[in-house]
Amino acid sequence: MSQGIARAVTGSAGLLAPAALFWLAAIGAALGPSPAGAAEAVQLKPVAQGIYVYTGPHADASGSNLGAVGNVAIVVGGESVALIDSGGSLAFGLQLRAALEEITDLPVSHVINTHVHPDHLLGNAAFASPTVEIVGHRRLGPALAARATFYLEAGARNIGPEFAGTEAIGPTLEVADSIHINLGGRVLKVTAHATAHTDNDLTVYDRRTRTLFAGDLVFIERLPVVDGSLKGWLAVMDELRAVPAVRVVPGHGPASARWPAALHAQERYLQAVLRDVRIEIAAGGTIENAIGWVASEERTKWARFAEDHPRNVTASFTELEWE
Ligand SMILES: [Zn+2]
Repeated sequence: MSQGIARAVTGSAGLLAPAALFWLAAIGAALGPSPAGAAEAVQLKPVAQGIYVYTGPHADASGSNLGAVGNVAIVVGGESVALIDSGGSLAFGLQLRAALEEITDLPVSHVINTHVHPDHLLGNAAFASPTVEIVGHRRLGPALAARATFYLEAGARNIGPEFAGTEAIGPTLEVADSIHINLGGRVLKVTAHATAHTDNDLTVYDRRTRTLFAGDLVFIERLPVVDGSLKGWLAVMDELRAVPAVRVVPGHGPASARWPAALHAQERYLQAVLRDVRIEIAAGGTIENAIGWVASEERTKWARFAEDHPRNVTASFTELEWE
C-alpha cells in the first residue's frame, strides 16, 4: 500500500464501515506504489535554485516510511537531473520519481549514492536504466556486495510487503578521487573521501548555489553513527570545513543548514567519544564500562542516542584500543 493510500484510509476511518476499510486496503495492496498518491506522499522541499530535498524521519525502517529514513536531494540542471541518494526501497524510489516528475520533465541522468547504507541506496531500482549512471565511491561496489543479502533480508523483515521488488543495485560509475558531472549549465563536483562514517563516503558540491550535499558525513539532530573510523571522520570533517559552501544538505536532519556551523554539534559529540574512550582505555577499562559513561552529557542532545550510542562506543573502543 502506498503512503498516500495509507493516509486516505486513516483519515477516513471515522466515516467508513470496516468492510469499506478492508476494500480500500485491498485496493491499495493490489495497486502497489500509486503514482496518483506519490506526489502527496513524498514531500520535496525547495532549498536553493533547482534543489529539492526529502527529509527522512528519525526512525527505524518500517512499512510506514518505506525505509526512507535518510535525506534525499534532487538537483535540476539545464538538460538533466541528478539524484543524491534514493531512499530505502523500490516502493519509495517509485514515489520519489513520481514526485520528481511533478517538478520537471527533464530526465534523470545520474543517481549519486553517498554511501552503502540501505536508507540511501535501496531506491536505486526505481531509476536504473541504460541512460542513468549510478555513481558511487570506488569502494561502494565491494561494500554493497558484502552486505546486500543482509540488507535485503532486514528490509523484507522490517518494511514488510512494501519492500517487494527492491534490489541492491551498485554503481556503474566509480569515483576514486573526484569527478565533475555536467547537468547542462550546472556542474556538480563529486568527491570520494577516506574512511569516515563508512569506508565509501562521497560528497557532492553544487558551485552555482554553493550547496554541499554531505550524505552521512554530516548528521544533524539524529545521533551520528560510526561505521568506518572515528578518527578518520574527524579528519574528513576538517577537510569538509574548507569547502566554500553556504549551506549543507545533511544525510539526516533538516533539509538544509548553514555551513560550516552545521558541523558543530556532531564534532562536539565525536570529540567527546574520542576523549572519553581514550580515558577508559588508559585506565584499563572495558567496553561495557565505557558504554555506561562515555559522552553521557550528550544523551539529551540527540535523537536515537539510546539505540546507537552503545554501538559507537564499541566501534570506537575497538579502533582506539591499539593506537
Ligand atoms: Zn549512513
